[in-house]
Amino acid sequence: MAQQGSVKDLENRCGVDPLVRIFRELIAYDTTSDPESKAVPSTLGQLRLGAYLAAQCSAMGYEVNTTPEGLVVVRVAASAGREQALGLCLLAHLDTSPDAKGSGIVPLLLKDYQGGGIELGTGRLIDEQICPQLEEHRGDDFIITDGTTLLGADDKAGVAILLQLLHELKLKNLEHGPLTVVFTVDEEIGLSSQYVDVESLGCAFGVTLDGGELGTLDVATFNAQEAEISIEGRSIHTGSAYKKMVNASLMAARLIDLLPPGELPEQTQGKEGFYHVLRISSCCEKATVRMLLRDFTQEGLQRRQKLLYELGELLNRQCGYQAVRISIKDQYRNFAEVLKEQPQILEFCRKAYAQAGVTVKEEWVRGGTDGSNLSFRGLPCPNLFTGALNCHGVYECLSLKTFSKAFEVVCNLVELIAKESA
Ligand SMILES: [Zn+2]
Repeated sequence: MAQQGSVKDLENRCGVDPLVRIFRELIAYDTTSDPESKAVPSTLGQLRLGAYLAAQCSAMGYEVNTTPEGLVVVRVAASAGREQALGLCLLAHLDTSPDAKGSGIVPLLLKDYQGGGIELGTGRLIDEQICPQLEEHRGDDFIITDGTTLLGADDKAGVAILLQLLHELKLKNLEHGPLTVVFTVDEEIGLSSQYVDVESLGCAFGVTLDGGELGTLDVATFNAQEAEISIEGRSIHTGSAYKKMVNASLMAARLIDLLPPGELPEQTQGKEGFYHVLRISSCCEKATVRMLLRDFTQEGLQRRQKLLYELGELLNRQCGYQAVRISIKDQYRNFAEVLKEQPQILEFCRKAYAQAGVTVKEEWVRGGTDGSNLSFRGLPCPNLFTGALNCHGVYECLSLKTFSKAFEVVCNLVELIAKESA
């Protein structure tokens, strides 16, 4: 029999677990970001949650700034005697993915998971197919949804950990160097890192709290580019098209067909890169193809780029004029290059995991994180786990064992840096 969650159990847990209580407060805010919006941040809900966090942090006595883009920046002075320690920046994002509904979330607590499926309210089931590591969580407690919305653990689990850290710094005697906590906006639509003013942070390194399973430490991301391929056809009435018409739609199809077989997202894994056809719009006269290029190495990315140009040239030769034009822009880069040169933050992270009894699983993210851009702008920034699983949809859930371990790891990291770098 599949297990179910309960509102009452969550209520009781909130009474004894401040981290869970904070998390529940945060997910009451609808902060879905909107890729179509021209506003900054893209949705009002993010400003509302930001205002709530800013008020909380000010009430605790911290120096808080809200930037014009809606980022909330909290400065924490070092504890006595640790003023010389290296500055650490901790980041989490306020928005949730536009891929699923993020308002009216009904969180439920599933206590003592005993294996098998987890039933959501709508008859949907979290099973091994949705969550391959599920069986490893026997004995764990989960926060789940009623199956109609996402949960928002991505990344309110990260936000909750940071808010609780700020509380603990006031309540307990946790030694720390200078810290800057940044709550970012619009991460899910790829804009957040550009709003972060790395220089003004004055930090030696950072971490994002935006990962998943227990022990994962994201140490590499893709190198990413987006190509826009414009194809100019020659439209002529079909009745008199013989040997005159050049159909841009068909040229677009041909170009896509010439991509190396097997190098698509659905056919690649691990450290393999790919081409991803994102969007095609076309008629006989004109076609536009937007394509994502992804690779863990710069050479691999350049190889993909080169092939695309070659295919364009091939089609141009075939039609006898310059029909195909390709423009390629950089999106983000693999931060492993930066971490290789400045490995100090990774070493601190590994120690912080070990102190919490957590085995480190270093991961290559088949995507980007805020750290991808921040690292190249002077803030080496790996990504830590939070316990959020099956993100961006109604199957999203939060492993509470992992969540509390993530909090422990962050506290360890703060203390380690204070003691070992001062
Ligand atoms: Zn996230």
